[in-house]
Amino acid sequence: MDQKHVVVVGGGWAGCSAAVGAIQAGAKVTLLERTDMLLGTGLVGGIMRNNGRFTATEEMMAMGGGKLFSLCDSNARHKKISFPGHDHASLYDIATTPVAVTDLLRDMGVELVFESRVNKITKTGNRIMEVQDDRGRVFAGDVFVDATGTAGPMNNCNKYGNGCAMCILRCPSYGGRISLAGLAGIEEMTGQKKDGSMGAMSGSCKLYKESLSREIQDLLNETGVAVVPVPVELTEDHLDQKACQQYALDAFKENLVLLDTGHAKLMTPFYKLETLRKIPGCENARYEDPYSGGKGNSMRYFNMAPRTDALQVVGLENLFCGGEKAGPLVGHTEAMVTGMLAGHNSVRQALGMELLGIPESLAIGDAIHHVGEMVHTIEGIGKKYTFSGSVYFDRMKEKGLYTTDVNVITARVETTGLTEVFSKDLHI
Ligand SMILES: Cc1cc2nc3c(=O)[nH]c(=O)nc-3n(C[C@H](O)[C@H](O)[C@H](O)COP(=O)(O)OP(=O)(O)OC[C@H]3O[C@@H](n4cnc5c(N)ncnc54)[C@H](O)[C@@H]3O)c2cc1C
Repeated sequence: MDQKHVVVVGGGWAGCSAAVGAIQAGAKVTLLERTDMLLGTGLVGGIMRNNGRFTATEEMMAMGGGKLFSLCDSNARHKKISFPGHDHASLYDIATTPVAVTDLLRDMGVELVFESRVNKITKTGNRIMEVQDDRGRVFAGDVFVDATGTAGPMNNCNKYGNGCAMCILRCPSYGGRISLAGLAGIEEMTGQKKDGSMGAMSGSCKLYKESLSREIQDLLNETGVAVVPVPVELTEDHLDQKACQQYALDAFKENLVLLDTGHAKLMTPFYKLETLRKIPGCENARYEDPYSGGKGNSMRYFNMAPRTDALQVVGLENLFCGGEKAGPLVGHTEAMVTGMLAGHNSVRQALGMELLGIPESLAIGDAIHHVGEMVHTIEGIGKKYTFSGSVYFDRMKEKGLYTTDVNVITARVETTGLTEVFSKDLHI
């Protein structure tokens, strides 16, 4: 069979995983990323395997889509840690992980093109033929994956947030996010906050660890976590604005919850610097990301694409989507599992094979199906979904899908007949 060519647009966790999924399925893969680094918002994240993410991770490993998860495990600074509302988390190192992913993708044969911001497409009927970046480079393919995320650009952060906070997306340097599905004329959806306004604010910041007291630094280095009580008179409430509702717990208001991902991950969307510096141990605190974390953070959940459970964008024959593009799914794990399915199914589509749907007896299949339904309801589009907490973790527990027993997870995957499905070359 002729080798098919998949072009993935966007190199966040979803795009990286789509690239792995497509190349494992035997395709030639080109990955176009707007900036000079992979991982997108994952460059400031790091939390893996907390709560139901453990189950989803192990399901993906059993299905043969575990390469990026294993890489996060081997780049973890801390494993099996607990912090308020969250158990058995691991924290990947935000310095070593992006480089390790870049090396892995190159070793697997993915063609990586950096500083390549797609801003034009050519379409014939309901098929994308080629995409063009803002340097005029043209990339043709049999099938495309939109993994451009939902964060920014600056006009959204200005209009719906507290202004550009100078985050890792670096829109002034590389230009803002552009949606591939949007370029193809697809009508997209936007998430809403509780008050009905658009988008949601990213839920954490990074502080320079060295700017914190020796005691906090030691605690972070040794245990991965520092829970620092906030004096009552200084307590600020940003919980409603957070994209990540799994951390919208009182403990995150009454304390500074800090996690060690290399820098100190501060589990709040922003914190006035003047107030932060009044908290014992934070007198010299300084933001590493976003630079203006005293004022705000990036805004997300704009331009989600309508899609099927196979992650094919509705209205286009040869476009798939993963990560935040595929719905208000929050997290690296969520981006990786949807990216993997999108990359795999893009090859099936190109080869004229039946598309794969993951059954609802697995947490991954249930989440993809459930979120796909919920986004079309007024109530559902206002929520965020993650294996790690809030409404979807509750559902996982109710449906008996949450377990940390790897043998049980492996057996469940086996029952569905999907063991190693993502590791097989579909061209053979
Ligand atoms: C500050 C912060 C902290 C977080 N912490 C965690 C955490 O600890 N754990 C966790 O699980 N989740 C965390 N999240 C959520 C998680 O990062 C995201 O939900 C997930 O990684 C989204 O991945 P994605 O690939 O869909 O999108 P993104 O990460 O947004 O990636 C999209 C990529 O597409 C590129 N792009 C956009 N437009 C174009 C174009 N036209 N052409 C080419 N490239 C384009 C962008 O440059 C970007 O690299 C955090 C999010 C933020 C913002």
